[in-house]
This record gives sequence, structure tokens and C-alpha cells, in this order.
Amino acid sequence: MADALSIARDLIRCPSVTPADAGALDVLENILKGAGFEVHRVTFGEPGTADVDNLFARIGTSAPHITFAGHTDVVPAGDESAWSHGAFSGDVKDGYLYGRGAVDMKGGIACSVAAVLQHLADHGGKPAHDGSGSISFLITGDEEDISVNGTVKLLQWAAARGEKFDHCVLGEPSNVETLGDCIKIGRRGSQSGTLYVDGIQGHVAYPHRAANPVPDISRLIVALSDEPLDHGSAQFQASHLEFTSVDVGNPAGNVIPGQARAKFNIRFNDLHTQATLKELVEQRLAKAAGNRIRARIAWEPSNSNVFVTKPGAFTDLAMAAIEEITGRQPELSTSGGTSDARFISGYCPVIEFGLVGQTMHQIDERTPVVDLEKLTRIYRGILHRYFA
Ligand SMILES: [Zn+2]
Repeated sequence: MADALSIARDLIRCPSVTPADAGALDVLENILKGAGFEVHRVTFGEPGTADVDNLFARIGTSAPHITFAGHTDVVPAGDESAWSHGAFSGDVKDGYLYGRGAVDMKGGIACSVAAVLQHLADHGGKPAHDGSGSISFLITGDEEDISVNGTVKLLQWAAARGEKFDHCVLGEPSNVETLGDCIKIGRRGSQSGTLYVDGIQGHVAYPHRAANPVPDISRLIVALSDEPLDHGSAQFQASHLEFTSVDVGNPAGNVIPGQARAKFNIRFNDLHTQATLKELVEQRLAKAAGNRIRARIAWEPSNSNVFVTKPGAFTDLAMAAIEEITGRQPELSTSGGTSDARFISGYCPVIEFGLVGQTMHQIDERTPVVDLEKLTRIYRGILHRYFA
């Protein structure tokens, strides 16, 4: 039977840099078909984007339905000559598996596939001995880049087929330093915008005929940066607004510019929705601008809302499985950037637990082989408890 290391090596040897698939989904399709899964390959595209291959595979027809989600695409290798082992070699040296995707997240997918295969073998080829329950895989090739032709559309496609998910494990590299230190149960939302301040362009020698937007935008940046958006919630740290650039696009030293703009990004917690957050920031802007400063915000479209899977029976069984294998009590965390969990959370509770993320996106991305073995046992422990 396929073990996690050999599946991970087969996946790494497919140079599936987004949006290329390079055979990665074929590797999974062959294994899952052999284990009795019904496998669907679906290609999504839209004008101006590259078509992307995705895979959905399911065994069983009844509830409860647990799905393992992930992505087979990877970020580019960077300077390949800088790698001590080829970026797509899948070499094993001194107990480490090397290659792009080793931790983010072909290694995690390989562990979930190996765990499911072993679990099925122990239960007469079914999720549970009595024949009930379902296990599926929701695998996209579009996570690392624009995330448009991947999980969002795959979930819509599955919903249109009548698929219902009860719980999801996303195998992103959630651990910070050691396997077992962290389960991600949520992520902050992300919202970007640009602040515009309109003045009146003019000659620097005749400022009374102009209105300089530079001091005004500075005042507004300070006002919006200084006042906290909140002080954190039970599951989240405080929301934060950060200005990332200020620009007037003015090459001349003797011209007062007519307009100034500043870009910003907000990472926000579950005390806000995108709508209430925008309202709050716009109210503060109006107050800081008063009647004199002409300011407005252009919000960027965002599909990155905040979500959290509240601690409960599902997180408890994951924690028990992790503690059994690693001896650690994982922290339930909501820190870090966005992932496809933000989309999945609209369909069912989702937790993220995978390998250790230290080398993700770096030269010499690698994972200890022993972590692949442990993560496989953890996923088996989750399945065992889930269908017990
Ligand atoms: Zn990833």
C-alpha cells in the first residue's frame, strides 16, 4: 500500500507551479480510484485567467462526511541552483525529504491519503465498519496564486451536486516549530483600500492659490492609525490597520500636487464583518477630515472574511489524536495569513493541521520524514475517533 513518503515524492516530482498541474492530480486519482473512491476531475477557468485542474473524490454515501482539503500547486522554486537537492527531485537525505511542496503542502496531502487508505483497509474498505459515513478529498491546483479557479469554484460545483460536508481538515503547514504545536481554527479577515485626498494643484511660490493635500493626508493617516479598531476577542488578537504606501505621483519640485493617496490593509477579527468594518473606518475618516479636507476611500474587492471554528467536539478529537502521537497539547490559533479555509468555512467547520511550516516557500523546503509518519498517524487517529 502507498505510504506517505512515496506519495509525497511522486507529487513533488510533478513541477506543478500554479497554474500547471504537471501530473500531480493524476498521482492522486490513480491511488484513490484503486481504493474505491469515485473521482471527479473538474477544470475551471474564466476570462483573463489560466484554466486550472481540480479533483474531488469521495467514498461512502451517507453522513457523517469528513473531507480532507488541500492544494497540489506550489510556488516557484526560485534560484534552482541554490537548492542542495533539486527543487522537484523528492530526494531524501539525512532523514529529510527535500522539494518544493514538501511542507506546503504535498507532504500534508500525502499523509492524509496514506492515513485514509490505512483507515479503509482496517474497516473492510469502508469509512466505518457498519458501512456508514463518507470520506472525501477536495484538492485544488489554484491556491498559491490568485485562488480564483480553485476551492471557491470546486465548493460551488460540489454544492450543486448535492454534496454536504460535515467537517473539514485542511492540511496546510499549521505548526510553527514542532509537529503538534498548533491547530489553526480560524483566520482574520483581510481588507485593503486606498485613501484619496483631493487638493488644488498650484505653484509652490503661490500656495494661497493651491490646496496642498500632503499635510492633510498625513493628518488622516495618523488619525486612522492611532485609534485601535478593537482590543481583541476570545479567539483573536486585536484588529489592525496598516498603511503600506503614500504617493502623490509628483516629479516636480515646484508644484503643489493636486491629489495624494495612501494604500492600507486591515487584518480584522470576529468583532467585525467587512460591512461594519468599512462603516467604522469611514466614520472615523469623516470625523478626522471635518468639513475642510476632501477625502474618500476606494475599497478593494475582498473575498477574505474572518472565520472561526469554535472549540468543541471536533477540535477536541483532533487535539486528542495529536496529543496521542506527539505528546503535545496543541494551541488553538487564529494567527497568520489567509488560506482556502476562509472559503471552506462557509460550508462546514474547518480546522487546519499539517506539517511544520518553517521552510515553506524557501530554498531547500524540506520536512523530516519522521513528521510524515507522525502526521499520517495523527490523521488516522482523527478518522478513528470520528467514525467510532
Ligand atoms: Zn499552502
